[in-house]
Amino acid sequence: MKSLQVVTPHMECIFNCPFCIAKGHKHNNVFVNNYLYNYDLWKNNLIKVINDNKDLKYVVITGTNEPMQSKECVNDIIDIVRGVNKDIQIELQTRYYKQDDIYNKLDVVAYSIANINLLKKIRPTGNIIRYVIIMTDTFNWYSLYEIIKLIPKNVKQITFKRLIDTNGVNKKVDDYILNHKINDDTLYKLKDDIQKYSGELSIRLDMECMHCEGRYKIFRENGKLYNNWEEL
Ligand code: SF4
Repeated sequence: MKSLQVVTPHMECIFNCPFCIAKGHKHNNVFVNNYLYNYDLWKNNLIKVINDNKDLKYVVITGTNEPMQSKECVNDIIDIVRGVNKDIQIELQTRYYKQDDIYNKLDVVAYSIANINLLKKIRPTGNIIRYVIIMTDTFNWYSLYEIIKLIPKNVKQITFKRLIDTNGVNKKVDDYILNHKINDDTLYKLKDDIQKYSGELSIRLDMECMHCEGRYKIFRENGKLYNNWEEL
């Protein structure tokens, strides 16, 4: 296993993104919060997973809500991972745009951005900054080069992410995605531009971000390891 996603304890998200895939799991994200109720078990299991997987290169801190709502947990995950293997690259996935010292403790800060108007407004910080562009219709008719022009110079990586529907689990989310996903013409043009791009930025298109098999495993707040987001 090269990559592990470590999930902060679930709580109601401070944001309410209409395309939120976390609202589309049948299990409703109900896992025992052993980070809170049995910290030693949670911590020892995380250490064991890291020790058992000598090929682990990346830890991605994420959540079924905004992970910065559990800043203490984010900090603990960083300290535990660094304490076991300092060569592992640690990334935080966040929609929390306010500056915070914790961002400087991470290798990568990946800012999720779902509206073109936000590209210029965020003042990102961190060692390596990635913009994760959630492809809503606000990006319609923008070319890759027009988007790059709107991005601050300290951003080094861009990932374009397709909106993923819940396959009928959450009709409201699915309806939103149907009506607000980027249009096909813009998507095909972006794909083409990304393939031809030869500039300094690292740019990729992620069409299957929730597809774990062969890519990563998930360590939840109950201290257990999962193969995919639906597994109970
Ligand atoms: S910030 Fe993330 S978890 Fe929270 S509502 Fe938005 S997509 Fe969902």
